[in-house]
This record gives sequence, C-alpha cells and structure tokens, in this order.
Amino acid sequence: MIYSPLSKITLEGREFLVKRDDLIDPYLAGNKYRKLYTLLQTPSTTYNRLISYGGTQSNAMLALAALCQKKGWSFIYYTKKLSTTQKDEPTGNYADALKLGMQHREIENDFYKEFIASLRLHVDEKTCFVDQGGATKEAQQGLHVLAQEIQQQSKNLHIKAVATPSGTGTTALFLAIALPEYKVYTTPCIGDSLYLREQMRALADIPNNLIILEPTKKYHFAKPYREFYDIYRVLYRKGVEFDLLYAPAMWKALLEQTDEKIIYIHSGGVSGNKSMLARYEKKGFVKNCSKNS
Ligand SMILES: *Cc1c(COP(=O)(O)O)cnc(C)c1O
Repeated sequence: MIYSPLSKITLEGREFLVKRDDLIDPYLAGNKYRKLYTLLQTPSTTYNRLISYGGTQSNAMLALAALCQKKGWSFIYYTKKLSTTQKDEPTGNYADALKLGMQHREIENDFYKEFIASLRLHVDEKTCFVDQGGATKEAQQGLHVLAQEIQQQSKNLHIKAVATPSGTGTTALFLAIALPEYKVYTTPCIGDSLYLREQMRALADIPNNLIILEPTKKYHFAKPYREFYDIYRVLYRKGVEFDLLYAPAMWKALLEQTDEKIIYIHSGGVSGNKSMLARYEKKGFVKNCSKNS
C-alpha cells in the first residue's frame, strides 16, 4: 500500500507535519478510512448489505456509502426525522451519500433510541451492522496500519508526538495503543473529557501516552464559531483544508497547550465543509467566500 504523505505547515512560528489521510480518497478518507480498514479488506461476498445509523451530515455515513458502493453491498442508514429543507434540498455529505446509493430511512424521534437498540438484534449473517461513527473494536486494525506508517515515515525526524481530534475517541485511543513510544494528543469535540474517557473505556483501557487536552472554552458540537472559522482560514491559506467540526478545536488546543514538534493526523471530513460553510455564511462569519481570498 502507498503511504499517505506528510506535509509541512508553519503556524505561529512553529513547524508542524500533517499526515495527509485526507488525500486517500474523495469520500472514504481520513480516520473513517482507517476505522473501516478491516471492512474494506473483507471479501465482498461476506455480506450483501450494511446497516448503520446516526447524523444526516455524518462523515462516517458518507464513508460507509462509498465503502458499500465499492463492495456492491446495499447500504441502509437510519436517522431521526429530517427537516423539510434537508429533505427538499439535500446538501453536503447527505446528498453525496444518496448519490452513492445510500437508502435513507427516517425514524420518528420518539422511537429512535428504542428502534436503534432493537436493530442490532435483528441482523442476519449477511448483514453487517456498524455503530454510529464506526466506534467498534474492529477499528483497531486500521489504526495499527496508520501507526506503522507513522513509525516508518518519522524514523529520522526526532518527533515524539502526534495529534488527532476526538468524537467517539476510537481513533485517538487505538492510535495511542499502537504507538506506545509517542505521545498522542487529542481533545474532545463532542461532550467533555469525562464523556470522552467513558466512550474510550468501553473499547479498551486508556494508555498513559494518550493525553486529552481540555478545551479552554466550551464548544457545542457542529455549531459555528468565529475562532473556528479563523483557524480554518489560516490553515487553508497555508495550503491544507481541514474540516470545520473537529480540526479547529484540536489546532487551538495544540497552539495553546503544547510546544513540541507534532505530527497532526488529518482526520478527513473536508467533504462536510460545503454544508458547514453555508451555515458560517448565514451567521455572517464568512466575509468573502471565494477560495483564494
Ligand atoms: C469522525 C471524525 C472524527 C472523530 O473520530 P473518532 O474516532 O470518533 O474520535 C474526527 N475528525 C473527523 C474529520 C471525523 O470525521
């Protein structure tokens, strides 16, 4: 396999390296590619369909849609009820996933939790069930492969720290386990550190080299923040586009709370920016939308 490359970025006078997992594939990239690695290696005859659930603009949803298209599996995806605008004018990851063949099913909000809980009990042997965000133990193998790439590529670089933002924490946790000689920095982008630790502990013991940086301000997931947009723009001008949901909080925490040389693992998700940028524009945070301003 070809390794994803490393790019250099200088930010506030510090040099960072970025592991460009965003370049792996237009849809199946970033940490979703790593987390779905085992499924990607699974023979297409093993299953004939895949079931998952979660948010309607989720990066995991889009990655699963791309995976199922490659495998020839049907993809059934459950969400809560869509708003009328979302339904009438599909945008972003949702529109892309539909184009890739996703069969979307809406569940009444009142029954959603119960329905999802019962879903997994009714899968047959030809159906693959994937939890929200791909938070499963099977993600471990792909992150082990990522760790090996990092070990190879940073052999003579004298870097002993990597960083990647957390939702479920699956990526950061398994990366830290596979890279015991590195510090692995992460920060919670959904909920707080306590919640993140809880999510991680459901998968494995948290190793000592995993360092959770507490955000200096409380952010709500997927809400537009001016400082998030600002850091996104700065990084964009430096030549790398990052996602607007996770990356800004990670970069902020790294700049505020660390000082060593770090390899930032790009976690992908750039495809979701179209719909996020539209929301930033609505809020008036985007002065000039043109890409090279
Ligand atoms: C899903 C996602 C994450 C969070 O990954 P976890 O393994 O759930 O912690 C981070 N960044 C991006 C861009 C993502 O799409």
